[in-house]
Amino acid sequence: KRKEKMGNSKEDYLVSLVVPCFNEHETVETFVKTVDEKLSSIRDHIEIVFVDDGSKDDTAKIIDSLRQKDDRISLIRLSRNFGKEAAMSAALDLVQGDAMIMMDVDLQDPPELVLDFIKCWREEGVDNVYGVRVDRSKDTEAKRVTSGGFYYVFNKLSSRVKIPSNAGDFRLIDRKIIDTLRQLPERNRFMKGLFAWPGFVSKGIGYQRPERVAGTTKWNYWKLWNFALDGISGFSSLPLRMWSYLGGVIGLLAIIYMIFIFLKTLITGVDVPGYASIMTAVLFLGSVQLISIGVLGEYLGRLGQEVKGRPVYVVSEIKGRLSSVVKKGISVTAVGVTCNEDGDDKTLDTLKSDK
Ligand code: UDP
Ligand code: MG
Repeated sequence: KRKEKMGNSKEDYLVSLVVPCFNEHETVETFVKTVDEKLSSIRDHIEIVFVDDGSKDDTAKIIDSLRQKDDRISLIRLSRNFGKEAAMSAALDLVQGDAMIMMDVDLQDPPELVLDFIKCWREEGVDNVYGVRVDRSKDTEAKRVTSGGFYYVFNKLSSRVKIPSNAGDFRLIDRKIIDTLRQLPERNRFMKGLFAWPGFVSKGIGYQRPERVAGTTKWNYWKLWNFALDGISGFSSLPLRMWSYLGGVIGLLAIIYMIFIFLKTLITGVDVPGYASIMTAVLFLGSVQLISIGVLGEYLGRLGQEVKGRPVYVVSEIKGRLSSVVKKGISVTAVGVTCNEDGDDKTLDTLKSDK
């Protein structure tokens, strides 16, 4: 029905801004205020869907009171902290817009760029418009080197799916891509890779990434490292397969060395010293074996998660206009969905035509 509508009049479209929040009581209000200001020209074409990722502070309470003043705001609450990737997956499953834009609540993704994204999507027909950080000078040198290294390694290892470097989650995706992504069954939600997976027409738009308005980052190096492993293991099996080749090369060298020692012993006689070379070989091979078993473990652990098939997220509550959509029977890939009854019974389509 929506497709028909979109086809009939290009003027009627809805873009869902998806905003995951985890302990963000300092930033949500500023976010809504700024979005209101900067995007007033397309007021009726946007809705804001906050995903509260199990915040321990009053983030949800603040969002709820904002929602009562503005019916364009919905709130999806997850039952605990599942991580930003899971929060985005929840939104992906529930959001009703003709396109969706992922944004951080800390205003590091400048709202004015949304206008460019939408323009690019509507006028140029681009399905996947992503923000590219042109200037990372605000990041520390270590962060720049590690993130640059990650993009390089990822794109070398992943043969088909390439991710643009310095593109984050800040992007607009068309309904086509939303529907494609919803069909991906995996639990490993490395969104940077998943966003690139469906293909379609993509375009990057450069922007300067400002500092967080308030609060602190939820990342540290250990989390980033694991995130990188999620990404690589999700899109490449080369780390798993390379050990047989490495083993082959080492085996070949060992045979050559064996022949060398054999001949040397025949020619010059028995030669006992060799502690250093034996130790070196034993330690080197020992560590190579441990590393390869470790890589096996990384994949096996993730395979275990996929096999268990637990839901990526659990929704505890949905408030605002989205709640009526879910009541209408749209399937949610989570257990334990309870909808708040105070959401009005209007469906999204009637809300849209009200305007
Ligand atoms: N976030 C989330 N769940 C988490 C961690 C972060 O929903 O477990 C949200 C957070 O509230 C913010 C966005 O993800 O809106 C980006 O987080 P952050 O600003 O800490 O990351 P950075 O910008 O430093 O990469
Ligand atoms: Mg941030």
